[in-house]
Amino acid sequence: MTWILLIEDEARLAASVKRGLEEEGFTVDVAGDAAEGERRALAHGYDAFIIDWRLPKGDGKTLIERLRSAGRRAPVLMLTALGDVEHRVTGLQAGADDYLAKPFAFEELVARLRALLRRPPLHQQAQSLQAGGLEMDTESRRVTLHGPGGAALLNLRPKEAALLEHLLRARGRVLSRDVIAERVWGEAPYVTDNALDVTVSGLRQRLAEAVQEAGVAAPEVETVRGVGYRLRAGEAAAPNRSEG
Ligand code: CA
Repeated sequence: MTWILLIEDEARLAASVKRGLEEEGFTVDVAGDAAEGERRALAHGYDAFIIDWRLPKGDGKTLIERLRSAGRRAPVLMLTALGDVEHRVTGLQAGADDYLAKPFAFEELVARLRALLRRPPLHQQAQSLQAGGLEMDTESRRVTLHGPGGAALLNLRPKEAALLEHLLRARGRVLSRDVIAERVWGEAPYVTDNALDVTVSGLRQRLAEAVQEAGVAAPEVETVRGVGYRLRAGEAAAPNRSEG
């Protein structure tokens, strides 16, 4: 049984998609707004989500982000308005695996859904990123610093965690402020320098706190003047592999 959650507020469309998918052998639940969608998604183990971009009581993008940060890894097919390129990009950045523009042919929806269910979704590649004694589980975004004093858990805010993830993925390469703004906020022109500075200093603060607890040097968020930031492994790094 393949269990699908369809989150769509247009009742007629939702009913016809549900009926069609059931004829194809899927089991389908429908939620009519973002709040109900989130409640159902977190309560059950769905195999895939079909999520409309514009929803009452929230929106598709935020919903996708919330499901991903809650560890829901099932593939997400996002429904957007025709020509809404900006929303597609934002949706994919938020964690959707594919999108379909309305109006769509039902056959295409089924084909894309089956394709998503066949391939291991991007978000199912659970992995941990490491640098020195620092380890991030990219699914739960749980960050730990391992040292002689034990494992210190870093209590990061979402943007701090996103920044750290991109720095870890860059493996010591410098990320420019523009690239960071785009990857962490997704809307580069609207991110203030101040917001970025606050996030960088917040991350440094959490790292410093963890260093005390774990008793080991953590990788450092290094400022490269006029360029951006990079993560530099601490000198007394724990013996974890740093290949991530
Ligand atoms: Ca809608």
